[in-house]
Amino acid sequence: MVTKVYLGLGTNLGNKEENLTRAIELLSLALGPCMACSTFIETEPWGFESSNGFLNCAAAFDTELSPHELLDATEHIERELGRTLKSEDGNYHDRIIDIDILLYGNEIVKSDRLTIPHPLMHKRDFVLEPLAAIAPDAIHPLLRKSIGKLLEELRPSSINR
Ligand code: AMP
Repeated sequence: MVTKVYLGLGTNLGNKEENLTRAIELLSLALGPCMACSTFIETEPWGFESSNGFLNCAAAFDTELSPHELLDATEHIERELGRTLKSEDGNYHDRIIDIDILLYGNEIVKSDRLTIPHPLMHKRDFVLEPLAAIAPDAIHPLLRKSIGKLLEELRPSSINR
């Protein structure tokens, strides 16, 4: 069975455009063709201090992998691109690449390793803005609102931008 998944990607080290482009290429090799990808947007570091701004995007794939197999694949690609550190206890740091699983169809997943929908996605405009560009009508299965609506609620001015 094929499931549509939405991933959020971010980088704030090195050649950021290249990091995102390479991550999308490796994801395509692992999952099949990228069905949609937002433009890359520049954002401020969130949750920690850094002078390195972020470049973020959102991408859609159709996959037969289970949620945990998908996490194995995204973590493998993070390591392949040279990421060594994980966030721990809510402490964030500079990173070559971060790949978050935002939505996995309309499934709700909760395990030690994985929470889907991503628990902070609706609070982060650097996630919602690119995601709304490719999937404004996708529904957050817990909040039961569209991504476009969540972005509008987070940042009311976004509809005029
Ligand atoms: P980070 O270092 O911020 O990328 O956090 C990575 C850790 O978050 C991983 O070890 C995952 O096990 C965990 N995690 C929980 N939910 C998700 C999700 N929806 N997408 C990606 N990682 C997740």
